[in-house]
Amino acid sequence: MPLNLQGIALDPVHAQWRRVAKDVATKLALDADRVDREGEYPTLGVNLLTSSGLTGLTVPKEKGGAGGNIKTAALVIEELAQGCASCATCYTMHLSSMTLMAALASEDQIERLLLPMMRCGRLNSVAMSEPGSGNRLWHTDSYAERLPSGYQIDSFKSFASSSGNAGHYIVPVRASNSVGPTDISLFVIDGTDPQVKPVGRWDGMGLRGSASTPVHFDKVLVPEGNRLGSETCGFSMLFAYTLPIYQVGLSAMYLGIAQAAYDTAVAHVKKRIHSDTGLSLSKLETVQRYIGEMRVRIDQSRHLIYRVAQMADNAVVLFNELAEADLLDEIIRANPDDPFFIEVAQVKVSASEMANDVVAKSFQVCGGSAYKRGHRVERCVRDVRASSVMAPSDDTLKLIIGRQILGIEQPWEG
Ligand SMILES: Cc1cc2nc3c(=O)[nH]c(=O)nc-3n(C[C@H](O)[C@H](O)[C@H](O)COP(=O)(O)OP(=O)(O)OC[C@H]3O[C@@H](n4cnc5c(N)ncnc54)[C@H](O)[C@@H]3O)c2cc1C
Repeated sequence: MPLNLQGIALDPVHAQWRRVAKDVATKLALDADRVDREGEYPTLGVNLLTSSGLTGLTVPKEKGGAGGNIKTAALVIEELAQGCASCATCYTMHLSSMTLMAALASEDQIERLLLPMMRCGRLNSVAMSEPGSGNRLWHTDSYAERLPSGYQIDSFKSFASSSGNAGHYIVPVRASNSVGPTDISLFVIDGTDPQVKPVGRWDGMGLRGSASTPVHFDKVLVPEGNRLGSETCGFSMLFAYTLPIYQVGLSAMYLGIAQAAYDTAVAHVKKRIHSDTGLSLSKLETVQRYIGEMRVRIDQSRHLIYRVAQMADNAVVLFNELAEADLLDEIIRANPDDPFFIEVAQVKVSASEMANDVVAKSFQVCGGSAYKRGHRVERCVRDVRASSVMAPSDDTLKLIIGRQILGIEQPWEG
């Protein structure tokens, strides 16, 4: 019998992974304050993710993983973000890399790369953003140079979560035989290569444990066997296999942050009593209204996220069929603003705006207490601010959505 999460149907496998994630999140929460205060990478959290089997969550069982889908990933990320949003950020990037790997890895790459990446006790990262193009992830200014023995990659990426800690990075760069900007190659680069150089220490206002510093891939030599898929398929494969889990995963993370802030706010307003009136904050109509508004926004967003997660899972089945028939690259190149991708864009914008609103209202009802360092809502205020600027930024996504509706050329076409 399907289980029910506020009207969202969960099969027993979804429910099981959600329970695992809840347990991990409870443990993450114990270390989250320290991770945030010290800007420390959540190593304990990564160990928990590995030991609980979550690192191979979205890899099909026949490829050695847990066989979960994007909906499972969203359920897990939502829980983890309630415990530690820094860890959830790194995990979202990890799943984005693993899903792409699982879709594209050859038999040899499954043995040599995918299985170790799942089991090595480290998370992996996708290093897409560059200083030049910023949040416009479809554009890369770096090239792969073809050598007789493979490739040389010289690429500066402006942000990569788990930077300096990642087992491997997936790195998109312009193909060596690139004709246009969307001819992108995808490489798997070993994080221990001495030419992989994280730059500085991450000191963000929020998500302080996410180690999201720049990384310089400084003339890294990469064997041909570490290229994923064909030499120019990167643009469409990122659309098909990274974008959906990345955008739904980020949305679930923002939802988790909002839920944590809301739960803290509800508990606070019940407990806080003014001495002159003898009444708790929860008796004030203004506060009741804030709580009601937050609940409405969270529920709306949760339903949208899980609807789009379901759509994305259906889309992946179709993409796999198209890939089998060798048609996926061609079809996505011709339709990167297909309504499906627009739904995926919408869900991130919607979750980001919801989470900023809910966290701001939670902050308001918690009053001066929430302004103090170490308060749960204070951390949410800082963590959630990344949502609108994480790529593609909400502004960019709205522009893409508007252009699709109006039939205007998309930025990557011009
Ligand atoms: C905590 C954190 C973790 C991250 N992790 C990763 C990671 O693991 N991998 C990775 O690749 N990247 C990562 N990033 C980078 C992120 O995804 C964005 O690429 C980055 O934040 C963009 O910053 P920028 O200053 O270059 O933005 P810019 O591109 O300079 O944009 C700045 C602002 O200009 C406006 N703007 C820009 N372009 C448009 C447009 N076309 N239309 C309308 N408005 C526009 C928007 O308001 C935007 O917010 C991370 C970032 C953060 C903060």
